[in-house]
Amino acid sequence: MTSNRTPNGRKVIVVGAGIGGLALGAALRAVGIDAEIYERAPELRAGGSGLGVVSNAVTALESLGIDIGLEQRGQAMHSFAIKDEKGGHIAWLPLPEVSVELGLPPTVLISRTALQQGLLTAVGDVPIHLGRAAVGFENHADGASVLFADGSRATGDVVIGADGINSALRAQITGPEPMQEPGYVCWLAIAPFQHPNLPTGAAAHYWGSGQRFGLLDIGHGEFYWWATKNMPVEVANDWPGTKDDIAALYTGWADEVQASIRVTPEADIIAVPARDRAFLENWGQGRVTLLGDAAHPMLTSLGQGAAMAIEDAVVLAATLARISDPTAALRAYEDQRRDRTRAVVEASRALSEREQLEDPERQIRDEELRRVPIEVLKEQQRDILTFPVVQR
Ligand SMILES: Cc1cc2nc3c(=O)[nH]c(=O)nc-3n(C[C@H](O)[C@H](O)[C@H](O)COP(=O)(O)OP(=O)(O)OC[C@H]3O[C@@H](n4cnc5c(N)ncnc54)[C@H](O)[C@@H]3O)c2cc1C
Repeated sequence: MTSNRTPNGRKVIVVGAGIGGLALGAALRAVGIDAEIYERAPELRAGGSGLGVVSNAVTALESLGIDIGLEQRGQAMHSFAIKDEKGGHIAWLPLPEVSVELGLPPTVLISRTALQQGLLTAVGDVPIHLGRAAVGFENHADGASVLFADGSRATGDVVIGADGINSALRAQITGPEPMQEPGYVCWLAIAPFQHPNLPTGAAAHYWGSGQRFGLLDIGHGEFYWWATKNMPVEVANDWPGTKDDIAALYTGWADEVQASIRVTPEADIIAVPARDRAFLENWGQGRVTLLGDAAHPMLTSLGQGAAMAIEDAVVLAATLARISDPTAALRAYEDQRRDRTRAVVEASRALSEREQLEDPERQIRDEELRRVPIEVLKEQQRDILTFPVVQR
């Protein structure tokens, strides 16, 4: 697409081809700005799990006319239940209902591979260079460069670090920074699975004492499941167990929880430690800025990490198209994103603390949630599900 190309023929160098980097490639293409993406991995692999692409992220993509066929590639979420470990009802989270009430596209439950394929269709002819690990950047008077581990460099008008929670570009901006580790592990897998307790489009979270389980219908006869368990940080960082160990931890839980573990091949289960970082107020320097987990890594409780990366991408592309001075455009993008991403990072951390509570506090937690009026739950969803209007 060249129709909306900026007058100075600007070029954006994107570091990282994860969800954020690919979304940025797609968004820049949609506004007619040239981009090149540089990815450390030797091949594009999305990892074997799933996620929810929440309504606000779908709205963001739509605002630039980007349609990646999410509902065909995954499954629209129709219900979101919170249950106890035996499957007893605690609450309905009215996330799908609020999307309908606000006239938003649905949240889509999808495998990471299917999401990556969709994003790649929108990235189109934007070049993706594989096997290029960034180690730092340089600002110049009229541009910026990324420096790669193999000694090469790439230069453009601006450089965007979309290189994830361990971002090399962020490390140059901030210096050494501790990881925040709440002390639990997440297991993740996708399996062919159906169960009478799980209707089409179901998202079901099962809350126990210091451990949880999630089942999400990603369509095409498959479910994405995840599980969490409190443990010392050093064990979570290098979890040594087996599928039988996981199954043992969920003995006596709802039948669908136990059955989904049973049908999953051990090799398909991934273990990831729960991690985030202290919120970074200023994530840019000169003609360089950050996006997605590189800028604001968050715990997974709100399921908004990828959505915030997609929102960042859309806002950044629209801002670069609107403001001709590259440095001013990057600072304007950061200003637009700071408050919203800070709020989501902090809300994710607060929710994570509640969700991982152990007995007896978790009984109080469950009782409190049972009593929250549906209108209050809806109000909590409205803000986050609404993608803020982007100036064009
Ligand atoms: C268990 C779990 C469940 C989640 N569930 C959800 C959910 O339901 N909904 C949701 O919205 N989000 C969810 N998230 C969060 C989401 O996965 C992340 O927020 C999202 O992937 C961030 O995208 P990103 O592109 O910023 O980073 P990443 O996906 O980490 O991509 C970074 C990319 O940069 C590359 N890279 C890294 N270093 C370099 C380098 N030095 N040079 C070049 N390339 C480099 C990496 O190889 C990678 O391709 C979940 C996360 C986890 C862990």
